Amino acid sequence: MDDLVELAVPRTCGGCGAPRVRWCARCEAALHDVPALIRTTLPVGAPVWTLGRYDGARRRAVLQLKERGRGDLAAPLGRGLAHALLRLEAWGETGGSCGPLVLVPAPTTAWAARRRGGDVVTAVCRAAARTAAPVRPMTVSPVLRSVGARDSVGLSAAARAENARGTVRVTAPPAPGTVVLVDDVVTTGATLAESVAALARRGVPVAAAITLAAA
Ligand SMILES: [Zn+2]
Repeated sequence: MDDLVELAVPRTCGGCGAPRVRWCARCEAALHDVPALIRTTLPVGAPVWTLGRYDGARRRAVLQLKERGRGDLAAPLGRGLAHALLRLEAWGETGGSCGPLVLVPAPTTAWAARRRGGDVVTAVCRAAARTAAPVRPMTVSPVLRSVGARDSVGLSAAARAENARGTVRVTAPPAPGTVVLVDDVVTTGATLAESVAALARRGVPVAAAITLAAA
């Protein structure tokens, strides 16, 4: 199996491009920084945490995963997410309950999932749940769908908010527990805000949002 992956994936570090490894120890360490609370341009309706700035190993790994089909990078990004979630929980920032933690991936459009490397945020959430499983069971509930939103790259904050308005559908109730919304990169907060609003309309509170990076 590893040999097959070898054929498909050039063996360079997905975080820094170093040869002969798919993920190096330095990039692993870079992803295990403490999560930071950030203020978004648009109010989200829940505290927004991020694993760090959208640069360096974090940026490269997200781009390689989304645009270059490096599905193997969901695992290290998931480990970083798991460590951040466990830390937030230790800080009492996930609602303070010891009930199940439910990761709800931010919505992706069907065309984006096809064009890119699949639903990468869900893949990272599943990897995080696998990492955390021995110490803290986490459930992944991919119940949000994006409907009608165009790609928001290059849009202003106001245009992003307008583009995102009413475009998040909740397809099913998430698993019972404390809901944490997860996205790859936060820019203005428009997608997170629409997701929190859509869940609130279904009576589901969001304890916190967390992103792999903040642009
Ligand atoms: Zn590296």
